[in-house]
Amino acid sequence: MVVKCRRCLTNNAEVYLPHSNLSLCPDCFMLLTERKVKHTIDAYRMLSKNDRIGVAVSGGKDSSSLAYILNSLFGKLDMTLIYIDLGVPKYSQHCLEKVRSLAKMLNRELIVYSLEKELGFKIGDFKSTIYGRKICSACGAIKRYLFNKIAYDLGLTKVATGHNLDDTVEALFNFYLEGNIVSLLRLKPFLPKTHPKLVPKIKPLIKLTDMECLLYAGYRNLPIRTVECQFSRGSRMLRRKELLNMITEKIPNFKHQFIRSHYKRILPLLEKACGDQEDKIYECITCGMPTSLEGASCHFCKLVNLMKNLRARSERK
Ligand code: SF4
Ligand code: ZN
Repeated sequence: MVVKCRRCLTNNAEVYLPHSNLSLCPDCFMLLTERKVKHTIDAYRMLSKNDRIGVAVSGGKDSSSLAYILNSLFGKLDMTLIYIDLGVPKYSQHCLEKVRSLAKMLNRELIVYSLEKELGFKIGDFKSTIYGRKICSACGAIKRYLFNKIAYDLGLTKVATGHNLDDTVEALFNFYLEGNIVSLLRLKPFLPKTHPKLVPKIKPLIKLTDMECLLYAGYRNLPIRTVECQFSRGSRMLRRKELLNMITEKIPNFKHQFIRSHYKRILPLLEKACGDQEDKIYECITCGMPTSLEGASCHFCKLVNLMKNLRARSERK
């Protein structure tokens, strides 16, 4: 039986959204997706008139959809795409081609930062270090630092990332398991400026699921990567996502409810209880950028130093 779109009641439905029990045609689905993002931006007051935005792009479905939606919702917005080339064989070059096509499609400037050219190492070089089994954690720290540093150096006022609902629920779930209150307090859709060198971060896709982002990118024909990073295999993050998907099969609005309860009920109580335990921010003794470590180098500088030592050791051999 052909199902009609619940919104326009005219076209055939192609998309089914289980969490809201909604069948939609592609046009209505795209329109509603863009409206959801606009609503999130308004609700958290993520953007203001004179903002200069840096969009962290990776060639994936989320950040490409984010850049496209911001571009269509706010055509006059000062927006630059930022890509970090991690030097992962096959993957990084493939992703770079996709973000280049996206920048061309949107007619926006693309800044490419190559780890190898700028710092002399690739992300895979961490394999022979204590990060061998958790390269993603080193990679995450490097990307977080660089997106902020690049945006700060360019004088941008916000960094937008493509974190979606699935990413956020997975991260929250992990922090709950670990009892990691500090990270629970920090994970927010809008992270305002807490230090002059910290550029505020926004996550406009926080209410969209993985599937919605994938469908949106597909219907809009966005250039997105078809190759996986070789280091993602068997990652704990992916296993946790699989587990949460299994729960969602039984309880379709599980993730939506989880995130709503966290932000509406639990986070305000946590903030009240921990109000005076706010993180202190210091400056890195090596690069001068913000860090939670007092009188020490930041996590990024420690990682860069690890690579320098590794290179020096291999040159001595
Ligand atoms: Fe970085 Fe891990 Fe993602 Fe690869 S899978 S890009 S190493 S975070
Ligand atoms: Zn530093």
